[in-house]
Amino acid sequence: MRSVTILGATGSVGESAFDLIRRASAEQPIRTVALTGGHNIARLAEMAQALGAEIAVTAWPELLPDLRAALTGTGIESAAGAAAVAEAAARPADWTLSAIVGAAGLAPGLQVIERGGVLALANKETLVAAGRLVMDRAAQTRARILPVDSEHSAIFQLLGQEKAECVEHISITASGGAFRDWPLERLPHATVAEASCHPNWNMGQRITIDSASMFNKALELIEAHEFFNIPPERIRVLLHPQSIVHAMVSFRDGSSTAHLGLPDMRHAIGYALNWPERHALPIAALDLAQVGRLDFSAPDERRWPALRLAREVMQAGGAAGAVLNAAKEQALDDFIAGRIRFTDMAPAVEHALEQVARASDFAKSPGDLETVLYWDDMARVAAGAWKVTA
Ligand code: NAD
Ligand code: MG
Repeated sequence: MRSVTILGATGSVGESAFDLIRRASAEQPIRTVALTGGHNIARLAEMAQALGAEIAVTAWPELLPDLRAALTGTGIESAAGAAAVAEAAARPADWTLSAIVGAAGLAPGLQVIERGGVLALANKETLVAAGRLVMDRAAQTRARILPVDSEHSAIFQLLGQEKAECVEHISITASGGAFRDWPLERLPHATVAEASCHPNWNMGQRITIDSASMFNKALELIEAHEFFNIPPERIRVLLHPQSIVHAMVSFRDGSSTAHLGLPDMRHAIGYALNWPERHALPIAALDLAQVGRLDFSAPDERRWPALRLAREVMQAGGAAGAVLNAAKEQALDDFIAGRIRFTDMAPAVEHALEQVARASDFAKSPGDLETVLYWDDMARVAAGAWKVTA
C-alpha cells in the first residue's frame, strides 16, 4: 500500500491535498504516515483521524497538550515543535508533500531529500533559499523532487522528454494580483485587507499578498531557475489576468507549447501525487469557449520592483536567494503588522540585499543548512532595520 505524509496539512495547499488523498483512498487505500500543522489543532486532529495517520505534529510546542487532548483514544501519536516536524518528515513515506509556508519548510524538506524520498514541493522557499544545496543533495541521495507550484508543475509537464538544448526560453504567467489595475500613486495606501484578496486563486494570506507585490512571482523566477537549471535570461514573466495559461515553453524551432487549466491547485498536487501517471481528478474541465479570451502583456517593473530584485538575485547567485526570501518574509510580517507600507516591502528587501552583500562573502553558495539559516537571520535583521536607517 502506498504511504504519504503532508507537511503543512492544515493550510490551503494541505487542504487540497487532503481532499485528493481522501478521494483516492476510497478506490485504492493510501496509508497516511504523518500530518503536520500549526495553530489549527482541531482541524489537524480531525484530518489525522479522517486519514488514520500514524502521527500528528503541530509546529508550536505550547499547543502539544491541546493536540494530545484532541487525539485521546484515537491511537494517533502526537508531537510538537520544529524538530518534531522535521522528524515527521524523516519517517519513511512513499510520497511527501511540503506545503509549509516560508523558510520553516526548508529543514523538513531536506529530511525527505536526505532519506532519498519523493518530495512534492509546494514550499517554493526551499528552492529559493537553498536551491543549490537542495538540488545537489537530491542528486546525491537520489531523492525525487516534483514541483507543485502550478507554473512549475506546468513547465515540468511541458518539458517532458524534450532536450534542454531545444528550449529557447520558458514563460511563467502572473495574474497581477490585487493591485494590477490600481494607479501607481494609490499603492502606498494599500491596506492588508485589500492586498489579501486574489482575483483568481484562493490561497493562504501570505502568498496572496506576495501575489499583489509580485514577490510570489519573484520567488517563482528563482524557483524555476534553480529547479530546471535554466539561465535567468531565458525565463520570462507574462502578465495574464485570467490565470488559465500557467506556463509556456518556447523551442528553438519557433514553436511554443502552453499548459492550460482552471486555477485549481488540486491539478498540480494531483499530478505530483499520481506521477508518472495521469489520473482523473475532481476538477472542472476547461471550456475555452466559455473563458472567451486570454490576454497577455509584459509586466511593468515600476509597479512590481520585486521582479527586478529577482533578476539581480539570480545573477548574484550564492546566498542571495536565502537573503531575498528571508528579507521578504520580514518585510511581509512588518506590512501585516502595520509597521511599513505596502510599497516599503521592496525597498526593505533591496536594503537587506545590499547590507548583507556588503557585510560578507555573499557570492558563495551556502553548503549546508546552518549557513543558509545564518544568511536568513542576517537578512531578517537588515530588512527589519530598513525603516530605521532609511
Ligand atoms: P497556508 O498559510 O495556507 O498554510 C501553511 C501551512 O504551514 C499550515 O499548515 C501551517 O500550519 C503551516 N505552518 C505555518 N508556519 C509553520 C512553521 N513555522 N513550521 C511548520 N509549519 C508551519 O499556506 P499555503 O497558501 O497553503 O502555501 C503553502 C506553500 O505552498 C507556500 O510555500 C506557498 O508559497 C506555496 N504555494 C501555495 C499555493 C496556494 O495555492 N496556496 C500555490 C503555489 C504554491
Ligand atoms: Mg505559483
